[in-house]
Amino acid sequence: MIPRLHIEQSLSVGAMITLPESERNRLIRTLRLHRGAEVIVFNGEDGEWRATLDDAGPPLRLAVVTFLGRGRDSALAVTLVVGLTKSGSIELAVQKGVEVGAACVIPLLSRYGVSRPNMQQSENKMRRLQRIAVEAAQQCGRTQLPVIHAPVEWPQLSTLLPEGDRLLFWEAAGHQGARLRDLPAPEGAVTVLVGPEGGLTADEVQFACEQLGFVLVTLGPRILRAETAAMVAVSACQLLWGDMG
Ligand code: SAH
Repeated sequence: MIPRLHIEQSLSVGAMITLPESERNRLIRTLRLHRGAEVIVFNGEDGEWRATLDDAGPPLRLAVVTFLGRGRDSALAVTLVVGLTKSGSIELAVQKGVEVGAACVIPLLSRYGVSRPNMQQSENKMRRLQRIAVEAAQQCGRTQLPVIHAPVEWPQLSTLLPEGDRLLFWEAAGHQGARLRDLPAPEGAVTVLVGPEGGLTADEVQFACEQLGFVLVTLGPRILRAETAAMVAVSACQLLWGDMG
């Protein structure tokens, strides 16, 4: 398999890329690439290119050779809001959510999850989440990098959410919860909200519906873990209205 690399610079045919030492190690030591070897590069904005290893360095240089196209991003923009917990479930939710087609992830500080983050810890956690998102995008062939927001509380959420349909997945929705396939196809972006592993309080659900315009939906009778629910919710939207299946 040809390695894919996320590059933080504008790219065009003929451009030369100089890689940092850490990436050089990966390409030369781990993947054992030689001069002339092919690599796919993308910058998270406007597509992907084929490049060749021009000089093994250090520093290692790549030459951009051909434009390959705009990549494998869905036209259905799904924003995933997911309750933040101390466990690693947000990391799995980001990794899998990006693979199945989330355009944006917003960690939510909620009552039964993390409600007051430690700033130092959360900066480290954010850097880690960004890296997980880039690696997931590299791995699955996406060329647009998903946006990973810093954690927000309920009142700030409204300023970040895109216009469009807003779906709150709630295991306790009972007969109030719509089945996804009974909803009309969205005309624009979709936001899906999944609670933390401790669940959402009735007050939080009420706030989301009344103040933020969320509609309650169910994923069926089984109670899924938060990271599973996040992955399934994004997949289900991509399957029904996006580019999956
Ligand atoms: N705390 C709850 C379960 C939380 S599951 C309990 O212990 O009973 C974590 C999140 O996944 C929930 O907040 C919800 O958003 C989502 N979820 C899990 N199963 C679901 C289902 N069957 N339908 C809709 N959402 C579900």
